[in-house]
Parts: sequence; C-alpha cells; structure tokens
Amino acid sequence: MVTIELADEVDTQFYTDSVGLVLRDDRSITAQQRKFAYAIMADIAKSDIGGFWAGDNKAVENYFKAKYCLDNDLDYISLSTRLGNRTDTNEFISMLLDFSLAHNVALSRMPINELEGDFGRRFEYSCLINKKCVICGTSKGIEFAHCKAIGFVNSRQKMNHLGWLGMALCHTHHQQQHSKDWGIERFMKHYHLQGVPVDERIAKIYHLHIVKEEKLV
Ligand SMILES: [Zn+2]
Repeated sequence: MVTIELADEVDTQFYTDSVGLVLRDDRSITAQQRKFAYAIMADIAKSDIGGFWAGDNKAVENYFKAKYCLDNDLDYISLSTRLGNRTDTNEFISMLLDFSLAHNVALSRMPINELEGDFGRRFEYSCLINKKCVICGTSKGIEFAHCKAIGFVNSRQKMNHLGWLGMALCHTHHQQQHSKDWGIERFMKHYHLQGVPVDERIAKIYHLHIVKEEKLV
C-alpha cells in the first residue's frame, strides 16, 4: 500500500483529487527496447518523404532526444545499454509512438508485442485517440470495440460507456474478436491487449453514450 501525504493544503477548486504515481525502473535498457526505439526512428525517417528528416535516421534521433530532454528537464537521454535506463527508454518510445500515430508513420514492428504494462495501455489509448487499429495500425474503418461482451441489458445506444474498457480495431480485427473461434478473452490474450477505460475524449470521438456525474458544489 502507498500513502501519499501532501505538505500543503490544496485548493480543490483548482486541482483534481487524483494522484499520478510513477515507479522508476533504473535497470539498464534491454536489447529489445533499444532495437524497438531505433526501428521506430528509422520508420519515421523513411516516412518523411521529401521532408526535413527524409531518410536521415541520425537527424530523427537527434531531434527526438533533444525534445525528450527539453520536455523532461534532462541533460541527456541515452539509449546505450551502459547508460540508458528502462523508464526513460519506455517514455521515449511512447513519445515516438505518439508522434508516429499522429503522423501516419508506417511502423515496421507491431508495438503491442514490444510494450509492457502502462506503456502498452498508453499505446492503446493513443490508438483510440488517433483512430488506428491497435493490431495492424491501419486507419481505415476504425471501430470502437468493447473488451467485454456488453450483454443484452446494455444497449450500445443507452448504456453509460464511461469507464468501460475498449480498444480501437479495424473492421477485420473487430470481426475476428467477435468470431466464435476466438472470443474476446482469447483475442485479448493473444494480442497482449489490456483495454482502456472510456473517458470523455474517447466517447466524443466514437460517439459513445455517456452519463456525466453531477459535480457537487
Ligand atoms: Zn486491424
């Protein structure tokens, strides 16, 4: 159990009561992380046809390393196995993936196989926001897929989607998810999917019905 005590009074008018907790993993980066980070940067360089980075892997690396340091107030980030650590590398990879999803970069590796825990969930969220299939990466015909059968009681139009776990799938993968041979549970395990709780942003994009809680004044 973790107890967090605040040193000062917090004016709840301006802050929410949620607390983010980041556990740092300072072990050395893995060979898989390193390869994955460089593969995404090569994909970005390759996708930038005629642009500033066009085909220049080193320019992409320099840009994103500088951006990461600036955003996180760091002097340097290293992807070497001697100096790099797992948390920074995972954060760095997440940043590259967010960029790739937002700019339609064709990825050579399937991210969902490379990411773990919170970083996998973060990628799933980014796929929902950018309307990309979490499995094959296509942006064609993206549908919101429920991670649990919604049952007869919940009609899709009337149920409150807030907090329900979902993911972004193309039509083909959505059909696979619902096919008799697969089933949702097996599908989730096979593709290492966790599901993302629906928030207002996701609900708006996929036109999902939500009931907002009345704010107590
Ligand atoms: Zn797909």
